[in-house]
Amino acid sequence: MMSYGYRPEWSEGSIKVPIFQTSTYVFRTAEEGKAHFELAYGLREAEEHETPGLIYSRINHPDLEILENRLCLWDRAEAAAVFNSGMAAITTALTTFLSPGDFMLFSEPIYGGTHHYLTDVLTRFGIRVKGFDPTHSTEQLLAELSPEERAKLKVILVETPANPTNELVDIVACRELADTLATDEKEVLVMVDNTFMGPVWQHPLQLGADLVLYSATKYIGGHSDLIAGACLGPQRLLTKIKEMRAFLGNMADAFTGWLLLRSLETLPLRMEKQAQNAIKVAEYLQAHPLVEKVSYLGLLQPEDGRSYEVFRRQCTSGGAMISFWVKGGEAEAFEFLNNLRLVKLAVSLGSTESLAQHPASMTHIAVPEAERMQFGITPNLVRLSVGVEHPDDLIRDIAQALAEVRVLIPA
Ligand code: PLP
Repeated sequence: MMSYGYRPEWSEGSIKVPIFQTSTYVFRTAEEGKAHFELAYGLREAEEHETPGLIYSRINHPDLEILENRLCLWDRAEAAAVFNSGMAAITTALTTFLSPGDFMLFSEPIYGGTHHYLTDVLTRFGIRVKGFDPTHSTEQLLAELSPEERAKLKVILVETPANPTNELVDIVACRELADTLATDEKEVLVMVDNTFMGPVWQHPLQLGADLVLYSATKYIGGHSDLIAGACLGPQRLLTKIKEMRAFLGNMADAFTGWLLLRSLETLPLRMEKQAQNAIKVAEYLQAHPLVEKVSYLGLLQPEDGRSYEVFRRQCTSGGAMISFWVKGGEAEAFEFLNNLRLVKLAVSLGSTESLAQHPASMTHIAVPEAERMQFGITPNLVRLSVGVEHPDDLIRDIAQALAEVRVLIPA
C-alpha cells in the first residue's frame, strides 16, 4: 500500500508524493484537451491503455488519485472517491441515487449530522426517509413497511457500529432485505457508514454492501488535523458519484489528500494501539461502581445473543470507541467531563489523542428527544474515543474524574 500508485522517478526522486498545489493542468495540444474532456464526461469509452488525463483539480488531481487507489486496497474495492468531509461523502452518495418520490431506510441510532440531513434536508426534496431498529428481524422490518414504501425503497443506509452507542447492524440481513425489495426496474442499494471500524476492522463490501462510506476525519486521518470523507465500491457506482462530486465541487484538496496519504501509512499501527488501550479502559469502567453500563464491542459475550453474533461475523476488533452510562444524569456526566485532564472534552473520534463528549447535548442534540431516549442516548451517556496514550495515564485520568462525580452522589 505504501508505495502503490506512485514512483519517486515521476517527481524528481521525491520519496513522498508531492502536494500538487495547482488548480488547472496544461494540455499539450487542443486534441489532448478534447480527449480528456470526452472521458471525463463519459462521452466515449477509454481506448486501450488510455487513462483519464488531468484537467482541473475539482475533477481530479494526483494527490486524490493516488490516495483513492491506496484506499481501495483496504476495502478491496474497485474504485474510491475522496471528499472534503464525511458529510460530503454521505450526502453526495445519497443524492447521486435518490430522486423525488423515492423512499429510503436508515438504521438508528445514526450520527446526528446524518440524521439531520436525512430528516430535515432530503425530505424537503420529496424523498421520504424512515429510521429502523436494527434489533428487529428482517421479517419484522418487512412487516413494518407499507406496500408503497416497499415499492419505492431505493437505499438502505446503515451505520454500524452506530454512533454513539456501538449498536450493531447486520449487513448481510440488510443485503437480503434489499434483494427482497429489488425489482427488474429498481435496484436497492445498501450503503454502510464504516467510520467506527475504519477500513481495518470491518469490510462491508465483502459482506454484501454496495457502497462503504467513511468520515476520513476519524481513523483514516487519525491526527485531529483535517476534515475529509470517502466512498468506495464498484466502478459503475463510483463513476456516477464522481460525476456528482465534480459538479458539487466537494472533493478533497491537494493538501488534505497529502495529509491522508501520510496518515494511511500508520493506520493499522494507530488503530491496533487504540484498540489495545480501549479494552483496558472498558474493563476498568465496567468494574467501576459509578458506572451503570458500558457499551464496548470487545466486552460482548455469547450471552449478548444477536449483538455478539453480528460482532463475530462482521468485526475483527472491539475498536476504540466506548460508550458508558454514568450513574445519575446530565449533572454527573458533565462533572465527569469537566474534570478530565488528559482526555480532551471534544467531539470527533479515532485520533491519536483520547476524546470524550456528551452525545445528548452535543453530536446528537438535534435528534428528537423521543428517538434519543429510544436508542439509549440518555443524559447520563458519555462517549469516549480512546487514543494512543499510555493506558495507565488514561485510566488514572478517568479514575480521578469519576472520583469527582462521587462527590455529587449522596452516600
Ligand atoms: N459518520 C459518522 C459515523 C460520524 O461520526 C461523523 C462525524 O462525526 C460523520 C459521518 C461525518 O463526518 P465529517 O465530520 O467528517 O463530515
